[in-house]
Formats: sequence, C-alpha cells, structure tokens
Amino acid sequence: MTAPHDVAIVGAGLAGLRAATLLARAGRDVVVLEAGDDVGGRQRTDVVDGFRLDRGFQVLNPRYDALARAVDPADLDLRPFPVGVRVVRGLRSDVLAHPLRHPGMLPATVAGAFSGLVSSADVVAAARWLLPAIVRPASVVNGPDKTLHEAWDRAGLTGPLRRAVLEPFLTGVLADDGDATSAAYATLLARLFALGRPGVPTAGVATLPRRLAELARAAGADIRLSRPVESVTVRGDRVDLGGAEPLSAREVIVAVGGEALSGLTGEPAPPMRGLQTWWFGTGAEAPASALLTVDGERSGPIVNSVVMSRTAPGYAPAGRHLVAASCLLRDAADERTVRAQLTRMWGGEAASWELLRRDDIPHALPALAPPMRHASPVRLTERVVVAGDHRETPSIAGALVSGERAAAAVLGQG
Ligand SMILES: Cc1cc2nc3c(=O)[nH]c(=O)nc-3n(C[C@H](O)[C@H](O)[C@H](O)COP(=O)(O)OP(=O)(O)OC[C@H]3O[C@@H](n4cnc5c(N)ncnc54)[C@H](O)[C@@H]3O)c2cc1C
Repeated sequence: MTAPHDVAIVGAGLAGLRAATLLARAGRDVVVLEAGDDVGGRQRTDVVDGFRLDRGFQVLNPRYDALARAVDPADLDLRPFPVGVRVVRGLRSDVLAHPLRHPGMLPATVAGAFSGLVSSADVVAAARWLLPAIVRPASVVNGPDKTLHEAWDRAGLTGPLRRAVLEPFLTGVLADDGDATSAAYATLLARLFALGRPGVPTAGVATLPRRLAELARAAGADIRLSRPVESVTVRGDRVDLGGAEPLSAREVIVAVGGEALSGLTGEPAPPMRGLQTWWFGTGAEAPASALLTVDGERSGPIVNSVVMSRTAPGYAPAGRHLVAASCLLRDAADERTVRAQLTRMWGGEAASWELLRRDDIPHALPALAPPMRHASPVRLTERVVVAGDHRETPSIAGALVSGERAAAAVLGQG
C-alpha cells in the first residue's frame, strides 16, 4: 500500500465534494473515492432521448447561504420557477402567485384567493405561523419545536389554504405529510421559498456537483469514480479503506448518504424518506402553465407536478416538453392511477404523454423530527469524521454545511 494520504473522503455527493475543496485549498493531500460512475450522489442528471432527467424532481434555492459560499451561483445558470402554485380541485384550477414578483398574475391570484382557497382566517393564521420566521428566523431556530401539523393547529391554520395548498406543496418538499417533520425546519424552509426563487440549472441539477468537483480538482483533490469503499478500519495512526482500491489516510471523512452510514462506521442509520418521480415527454402542445401544480383534493398519489421545460427549456428537445410528477414512495401507485390523476391536473392530453422514466428513491431525504437538531457531531473518533445532509438538514444546504463542518473538524477548527 502507498503512503497514507492526509485525508480520504468516501462519497462524492455535495457534502464530500465541499469538504474536499476546502481541505485541498488548505493544502491537504485529499483523495475522494466515489462508488458511482459520476459525482453528485442524489444530484445526478441523465440525458434520455434528448430530455434531461434529474434523479427525482428537485429544486435549488439560491437563497441558501451555503450555496453562495460554495459556488458562484451564476455558474449554475439557474432557471427560476414562478413563485406560486396552481391548485387543482375537481374541474377547477386556481392560481396563487407572489403578487410583487408576478404582477401579471395578480388578477388570477385575486380570483384564486376569492375562489374559496384562502379565507381571511387563513390569512391571519398563516401570518401567525410564517411571519416570525421571516422577521426573526433566530426565534424559530432557538424556540421550542413541535411537528408542522401541531404548529399549524396552534396558529389556527386549519382551512383550505392549509389543506389544498400548503399540505400538498410541503409534502413534496419534505417527503412527509407534516405529521412527523420539525415545524421549525419546515417553517424556515417555507421562509426561503417565500424570499427566494427556487429553480433548476439549465443543464440539470448535476450542474452543482459537477461545478463543486471542478473546484475540488482545481484545488488539488484527486476524485476517483467507480471506487466503492467496503470498510473503514482504524489502525494506530492511520485509517485503512478496503475495497476495489485499498488505500490509507491519516483521517477519513465518511460522506455517504444516511443509508450507507452504518455499514462503514457503525453509526445508527438515520431514518430516511422515499420519493418517486414520473417523467413524461409531451408534444409541442404541453400545458402552458409553468407553475408547480398541486392537487388540492389529494385525489391520488401525486403531490406535485410541473412542466419543467416551461421554466428550463433545455430539459426537453426542441418541439417537446418535459413533465415531472412526484409522489411519496410509500404511496406509490401504478401508471394507470398516475395518468388518471395527471389527467385531472392537466387535462385529457396527459393520457397520451410518453413515459420516459420512473425514479423510485427510497433514501431521498433524512427525516427531521422535532426538536430540530443543529449540528449533530461530525467527529466520531480521532481519525473518523462524518458528513452528509443527515448531519444537518435534509437539503442541498444541509449537505454543503455538513461538508464545511467536516473540513473544519479535520483542520482542527471544528
Ligand atoms: C428526489 C429528491 C428530491 C430532493 N429535493 C430537494 C430539493 O428540492 N431541495 C433541496 O435542497 N434538497 C433536495 N433533495 C436533497 C438533496 O439532494 C440532498 O440533501 C443532497 O444531495 C445530499 O448530499 P450528500 O452529499 O449528503 O449525500 P449523497 O448525495 O447521498 O452523496 C453520498 C455519496 O456517497 C457515495 N457512496 C455511498 N456509499 C459509498 C461507498 N461505500 N463507497 C464510496 N462511495 C459511496 C454515493 O454514491 C453518493 O455519491 C432532494 C433529494 C432527492 C433524492
């Protein structure tokens, strides 16, 4: 075996790549071993028949501070979705859009609000729930925590705005329908949705990890693909990594997803939530709306659906459009059921859309139950550090921050 590296990182997801860049910039000899055939982990994009299919529908919020610390957001060429939702209930569809960002949709939004979607009691209750997070986020971070449903009940948010809009919308974002997720986390996330304009990079979500990998390599990190690590064993003053390419290092950062953590470290596996995304190709005559659409009656497994290429034209070949429809994996249903619901959400043409792919992702997001924990320890032993969204919050920001904290721990700054 060759001389030990300063640091070996297992996993080239966002957390591992961010840690690699920081450590290589600090002058450490860094090697990254990734089991997959490309970097990115849960953030991969495949080109299928000219469509760009992310591995599960996801969005990137440029308001994440950790994102701006890691990359120049301009490098991602982000296409922002409209800030609002289209809500389908039976035969009617209504729009609720941010009035300042989309003044052109104001008449539709006013009509939507008066359609029975938003009662005045709901407006007061929603303000009671969200305003503290907007004005003083620290009060939410440091305050008592409960489940999101309990927080809504307590704020008096019990009407159609909750049932038909917030519940389906946040169910897709949290991979949970709110009865188990930390209200503090969900509320801070809703704050970022209210303040930012989430979108997708023109060339797919893989743009972010690819950019992180470029930065890591430019700083001197050696990223090796298709190199699964089978064991992490501390021997005196070094750590041996077993697998296709055994090597040793002075320290290791285990930056694998929650599902692979315990096999390598013995740490308990964090509970994970599953998502399912169906990808459909349409002809030129796709629905015109670029808004994320939710089924306000929850008439089937789909929690949200969106015509990706209305916002990011590069996701579909010329003359065609790409539609995503996401479900909780636990509610997975057959294609006939999904198409029937899509027909209710988008109209009859959905019945003939071409099914491009279905992504079942059992370990999409770590569960974040109350009370919201910040900063789970990253250092396990003198030589073993862990990183990943399961250490922070179930998000891109959480993964990036965990990579920063792991690097700081190795540099003795944590
Ligand atoms: C469907 C879906 C929707 C999402 N939506 C959003 C969203 O809208 N907004 C948001 O902020 N976040 C979203 N997320 C979450 C976000 O993608 C993740 O939080 C983030 O990508 C996690 O990065 P990570 O580095 O912690 O882990 P991962 O991406 O899981 O990276 C771990 C890496 O370790 C590698 N690995 C595992 N075992 C080994 C081994 N033995 N040897 C070598 N390598 C190994 C894996 O191959 C992987 O590359 C979504 C995730 C999914 C799946």
